[in-house]
Amino acid sequence: MNNTTLTTSALVELDKQHFTHPWTVFDVYQQQGALPIAEAKGCYITDSNGKRYLDAVGGLWCTNIGLGRTEMADAIAEQCRQMAFANPFVDMTNIPATQLAAKLAELAPGDLNHTIFTCGGSTAVDSSYRLIQYYQNCRGKHDKKHIISRNNSYHGSTYLSMSIGGKAGDHPVEFDFISDFIHHISCPNFYRAAAGMSEAEYLQQLLDELEQKILTIGPDKVAAFYAEPIFGAGGVIVPPAGYHQATWAICKKYDVLYVSDEVVTSFGRLGHWFASWDVFGIKPDIITTAKGITSGYQPLGACIYSDRIHQVISEPGHGRCFAHGFTYSGHPVACAAALKNIEIIEREQLLQRVLDIGPYFQQQMKTLQDLPIVGQVRGQQLMVCVENVRDKVSKSLFDEELDIGKRIADHAEDLGLIVRPIVHLNVMSPPLTITKDEVDFIVRTLRQAIERTINDLQQQGHL
Ligand code: PMP
Repeated sequence: MNNTTLTTSALVELDKQHFTHPWTVFDVYQQQGALPIAEAKGCYITDSNGKRYLDAVGGLWCTNIGLGRTEMADAIAEQCRQMAFANPFVDMTNIPATQLAAKLAELAPGDLNHTIFTCGGSTAVDSSYRLIQYYQNCRGKHDKKHIISRNNSYHGSTYLSMSIGGKAGDHPVEFDFISDFIHHISCPNFYRAAAGMSEAEYLQQLLDELEQKILTIGPDKVAAFYAEPIFGAGGVIVPPAGYHQATWAICKKYDVLYVSDEVVTSFGRLGHWFASWDVFGIKPDIITTAKGITSGYQPLGACIYSDRIHQVISEPGHGRCFAHGFTYSGHPVACAAALKNIEIIEREQLLQRVLDIGPYFQQQMKTLQDLPIVGQVRGQQLMVCVENVRDKVSKSLFDEELDIGKRIADHAEDLGLIVRPIVHLNVMSPPLTITKDEVDFIVRTLRQAIERTINDLQQQGHL
């Protein structure tokens, strides 16, 4: 079938019949269908009817260098022509994968010099846990397998990574989750801390909770702490100052591995290759990444881990086999795309660009806080979230059925702007190439979309 001959309505109908989308609410989807995207250039996407939108979500936190770059297409095509696939198993390798692994060792903090390549973020998180099990068994610590993560975190959509995640809405009763060795503690969201508590008191409460959780499970049983440096899908929650270093210290005290899930926060989103060390001053044992590693031009993830772990698992004389990996681990085309993507970030000095424009983006977004339903605008550099509330003093939320984030996102879409709704939130993570004028457009248009939503709510008697 030649899809260029399909009309938009035929495409939407076909899509409804055959494509099970991630996170589809089936009933709504059957009524509304999907927006078919036909083209993407820089920060802009164009639908199949020719309408153009500024994509402030950056795909899904991933189109860091912006889409539609000929240089990327050429690098990918060239690698396809040269060698579209190579078996990565056992003792075969390929040049782009070797080069990329070496480059990641150069860019990653501390002694993170080893990479397991995966197909995306979820499989990077899964691989990190298989690595941890392997490491603990090699050390003879067979009981040290439990994981601590945080409520409201997102770590992926495989059985394991989704179980590590802690977003209530992502754990519907129709799915099963692993709970016997995965434990969740509080999300470090000061906006939702008990009234009257100082930030320092709140931080101490969070740290006590982590330490107590380790002691309750037993330090000999806790293998790892999983944490996004800034919560992404949980609503761009930036933990209180000092949280990262203090949780890292607690983990070190109890021989608990620190896994920093940088699927969103790496490759420039916060103005650095990785946020763990350069932004938050911690050297994790493992970093998981994906998304911005190729800016979405190819699917790729990576689990980057320390010399310390590597020395244990590869200790000479044991003849051990690390029986883990995928057909597409170190896929040459994906790795070639990542290498070109990194080259572009370096050449165009996009990290510095983020450090220059990021504060302006945050400052302009915060002007929306004068709107009566905007409870908080928060974020850092090119990650931002607008939290919509019914009442700004009590911080009470709208009923979930009102789908406030989606209403705002739909108005924004009409106005030519894509923002991502997550229940009562709207999140954004534009490409690193975003300009001041485009930031102004985002803020102006989002304001209009929120005002239209307030108007609807008033007319429908919800406000
Ligand atoms: N970890 C984090 C922090 C993420 O934000 C995501 C995806 N949004 C994942 C893991 C999963 O990545 P993927 O969707 O590529 O499997």
